Amino acid sequence: MLRTHTCGELRPTHIGQHATLSGWVQRLRDKGALLFLDLRDRYGLTQLVAREGETDPAIIATLRQLGREFVIQAQGKVVERTAKNLDLPTGEIELELSALNILNPAKTPPFAIEDETDGGDELRMKYRYLDLRRRPVRQNMELRHRLNREIRAYLDGLGFMDVETPVLIKSTPEGARDFVVPSRMNPGEFYALPQSPQTFKQILMVAGFDRYYQIVKCFRDEDLRADRQPEFTQIDCEMAFITQEDILQTFEGLVRHLFKTVKGLDLPAFPRMTYEEAMRRFGSDKPDIRFGMEFVELNALAQGQGFKVFDEAELVVGICVPGGAEYTRKQLDELTEWMKRPQIGAKGLVYVRCNTDGSLKSSVDKFYSEEALRSWAEAMQAQPGDLLLLLSGPEHKTRKQLNELRLEMGQSLGLRDKNTFAPLWVVDFPLLEWDEETQRFYAMHHPFTSPKPEDMHLLSQDGQAGKVRANAYDMVINGVELGGGSIRIHERPLQEKMLALLGFSPEEAQSQFGFLMEAFEFGAPPHGGIAFGFDRLCAIFGGADSIRDFIAFPKNNAGRDVMLDSPAPISEAQLEELQIQVRNPEK
Ligand code: ASP
Repeated sequence: MLRTHTCGELRPTHIGQHATLSGWVQRLRDKGALLFLDLRDRYGLTQLVAREGETDPAIIATLRQLGREFVIQAQGKVVERTAKNLDLPTGEIELELSALNILNPAKTPPFAIEDETDGGDELRMKYRYLDLRRRPVRQNMELRHRLNREIRAYLDGLGFMDVETPVLIKSTPEGARDFVVPSRMNPGEFYALPQSPQTFKQILMVAGFDRYYQIVKCFRDEDLRADRQPEFTQIDCEMAFITQEDILQTFEGLVRHLFKTVKGLDLPAFPRMTYEEAMRRFGSDKPDIRFGMEFVELNALAQGQGFKVFDEAELVVGICVPGGAEYTRKQLDELTEWMKRPQIGAKGLVYVRCNTDGSLKSSVDKFYSEEALRSWAEAMQAQPGDLLLLLSGPEHKTRKQLNELRLEMGQSLGLRDKNTFAPLWVVDFPLLEWDEETQRFYAMHHPFTSPKPEDMHLLSQDGQAGKVRANAYDMVINGVELGGGSIRIHERPLQEKMLALLGFSPEEAQSQFGFLMEAFEFGAPPHGGIAFGFDRLCAIFGGADSIRDFIAFPKNNAGRDVMLDSPAPISEAQLEELQIQVRNPEK
């Protein structure tokens, strides 16, 4: 080997020994008579030292030729440092150089390989191998590796079996947009890349595998956001002969195991909340419960007093911001403008300041007596010094807008601490979601999710299907949906009925999902499962918002790999072979 130790390994116990290290030049400090070099590898930094008059002059000459990121091999004796650096694990020793060998010179890197770098996102992605040399990025990848190992350890321990499912599958109309791959051997036909291994894992249950998992790449051709990548990794799981309760227990156990082993944290049992309750209390199906500021409905107290905006609204609802009365008029105007941006789309924002002297001051003083305002403050359990913020409008929309406001206020009050973890289960999601635009139902989770048995009768009642709840659940941490799953349909007639509700003709249902429904006729056990976003899990454990920093080779916001410069055109010959015509090859 080109080394006897790593750059993170040597300690005072090695003093007097000879060692050979290999790595990258972090920094050379040439003080004339004394030269120091920090040598870096994945494991750490070690200081090498040479002294004019003591060290071989050829070594000193070589040292002076070195640039940043040269790859070198260094030999020497481990000695005690006079000026110790106790911040560094190797900071008590240094290596007195007795041989130095340049393994490969390097060009000057386009950005600093330091904890804090001067490189912008695009540059760092183009030279991702240099970015990955930086400690914070490397540590993210190490965290990912550790989580991966602990997930496998936990699931293996429970008898889950890792089964690989295919990547070239078939496009289906449900869910997000598919990435497609042309088939040369079947001209004019296309594979699709899986959005998830959903149907395969269900088929594995029919096959009797009973406990399946896979840490698996999935692909969705959606518009990108900070926490989205066109290819991402799921921890995909399925179990047979279980109830919803078994799934919740098993996978709450997984996440608690990860917090315990990777972060040393013992999390208490996860609270559970129905979808209906989450929407009512927080206006979100993924509430951040690290802080309060819960919604209070004020229709009864605020309507019928002559303020038209409230009187005509389906819902008047507010939050109480602790200590918020200090907000200036200007700040409140800014907040109102922020709420009116098209991304949120509120019409306005009503506030009531609960001053510390006990007086109340609102933006609707013209319409409401102090007594009326006091009744709101009481309903919202406001203390002197608090601020009430109220919205009104159509129920669903208004709750969503107030959710944005609540999160924003939580953020600005510092209530969303990255080192606090507040997980919960959201359960009893609606089975179906009505889409106004296309005038049809969509499956809220996916078409294989089973209705709650007690709601089953509503499926066949006119106008009631939207009320059916599903055996579907999400795990949420700090306002982020970390995973979701459901108990599945395992009988052909119910699956047919579900697909019909979703607007599939019997022929379409058969051609898209006939294989699955046929499998259900050959002895399908009751089953269910869940999938977690692995990249998101890593980001949460790493205290970061973006998943990109936890993926070795991520794509940029336009879905491009800037290192490979992909996607890219393919040759005429390739196109011909695939019998594909590109309309405008320049674009
Ligand atoms: N396949 C689902 C998803 O990707 C998860 C599940 O139901 O297990 O969201």
